Amino acid sequence: MENAKALPKYGNYIDGKIVPPASGEYFPTENPYTGEAWAEIARGNKADVDAAVAAAHRAFEEGEWPSLTASQRGKLMRKVADLIVANAEHLAEIERRDNGKLAAEVVAQVKYLGEYFHYYAGLADKIESHVIPTDKKGVFCYTKYEAKGVVVIITPWNSPLTLTSWKLAPALAAGCTIVIKPSEFTSASAIELAKLFAEAGFPPGVVNVVTGFGHEVGAPLVEHPDTAHIGFTGGEIAGQKIYEAAARGLKTVTLELGGKSPNIVFDDADLDQAVKGIVSGVFAASGQTCQAGSRLLVQESIHDEVVRRLVEFVSTAKIGDPSQLDTQVGPIATRPQFEKIMSYIEIAKGEGAKCVLGGRSRPDLGAGQFVEPTIFTGVNNKMRIAQEEVFGPVLCVIPFKDEEDAVRIGNDVLYGLAGAVWTKSLHRAMYVTDKLKAGTVWVNNYRATSYTAPFGGYKRSGIGRESGADAIREYLETKCVWISTDLDVPNPFIRR
Ligand code: NAD
Repeated sequence: MENAKALPKYGNYIDGKIVPPASGEYFPTENPYTGEAWAEIARGNKADVDAAVAAAHRAFEEGEWPSLTASQRGKLMRKVADLIVANAEHLAEIERRDNGKLAAEVVAQVKYLGEYFHYYAGLADKIESHVIPTDKKGVFCYTKYEAKGVVVIITPWNSPLTLTSWKLAPALAAGCTIVIKPSEFTSASAIELAKLFAEAGFPPGVVNVVTGFGHEVGAPLVEHPDTAHIGFTGGEIAGQKIYEAAARGLKTVTLELGGKSPNIVFDDADLDQAVKGIVSGVFAASGQTCQAGSRLLVQESIHDEVVRRLVEFVSTAKIGDPSQLDTQVGPIATRPQFEKIMSYIEIAKGEGAKCVLGGRSRPDLGAGQFVEPTIFTGVNNKMRIAQEEVFGPVLCVIPFKDEEDAVRIGNDVLYGLAGAVWTKSLHRAMYVTDKLKAGTVWVNNYRATSYTAPFGGYKRSGIGRESGADAIREYLETKCVWISTDLDVPNPFIRR
């Protein structure tokens, strides 16, 4: 239990220093397991945004950062990578306290973020210029790629450090400077991460963090005339508002929004493996992941057997205190999210879906912010429970006849983030892989992601890609340079 009288206070991180918010106001951040506040977070506003953007803009235009070579930028990033790994336990403890992630998983997740910074550190000095062959005589033409400027990173509460690093590492490698706005529910880890940039020797102003609420900090950051690109992960409503505001300023965006991903199991699949994949696919992090395989599409002939095995397996899951290493299902990260999930369970029941497992909250555990892993059968794909993102531990099972039927149902949603197919048939695997309209398709596995592999959505799941070599392009402008090589022809372009 945290001591309410001695709550640590987190200020903003601006221009290399922790500073109090301009308003002087702080708000509590709660542990979703105990329901108690464990720290106070600076309530930023437009004045803090102006100070952070000014610092980031100065750092982009003047001083040490723009004078570093790309290799030197990479070296600094490697120091941060090592510091993240060295401080992984501490960072993970903060994430667990803020969003209820399982201690058994979060340390490894945080350590893995070091790999993102190492990977993009290596890419920093491999951004190549290109010689462009042209139709014009007497000229040499080439492109070079330059950092866009001040990048805004806006993140949600489900995986704060991961989703920050997915944007921060390529943006730094590109040479941008950054202002981070973490979720108001999980702000502390971004401040702790920022301190590591100071320790690594990053010049002041390259990385800044302003904490607070979406309309008070996020919106002014997006609207600020000196910010160039917005990298956002979160819900569709905020994503649309950010896209609209960015469009008014003609800024570029990377948006990673929601999903309703199909996990498709054929009758020839290895069912032992498939069941494990279904369970981790939808119930990891209590279902609070954008790539959750929340629609299970099962071939009719094995429907009952798969449901029987799932119910048997999931009913043994240990729900409870996320700090205990044997806990498999933790609390829901925020009270509004808990209420949203419970309302979707009622909606599904009202639509006539059959709840074969769970369907209840657990008021007896911690602060009562738990939802049992829940499985609905008798779902048809037109129901809201099959169409809308719940972002919780709720699986709906939908039968299908054959390959065509599976793909038709799989694609019959507004989203297109991810999907999976379980089969031993190469033909089936390739058919589904080709036909699914999704940014990631897994074959006989679920949830693999890497710093080397692009991740992002089709349709309403987002715009642009994160991770992989190409993600660095989100943070670069293309400059085309024309050099006259024929001194006898001062303006070669008059000649045709
Ligand atoms: P949200 O999208 O409202 O907030 C995400 C971030 O955006 C936060 O930092 C928030 O302060 C900021 N924000 C909100 N409005 C903004 C605006 N107008 N301008 C700039 N910044 C703004 O997410 P939430 O309220 O935490 O959750 C809402 C729903 O989003 C959830 O129920 C869930 O379904 C979904 N969600 C999806 C993901 C994902 O990874 N795709 C992650 C978290 C939540």
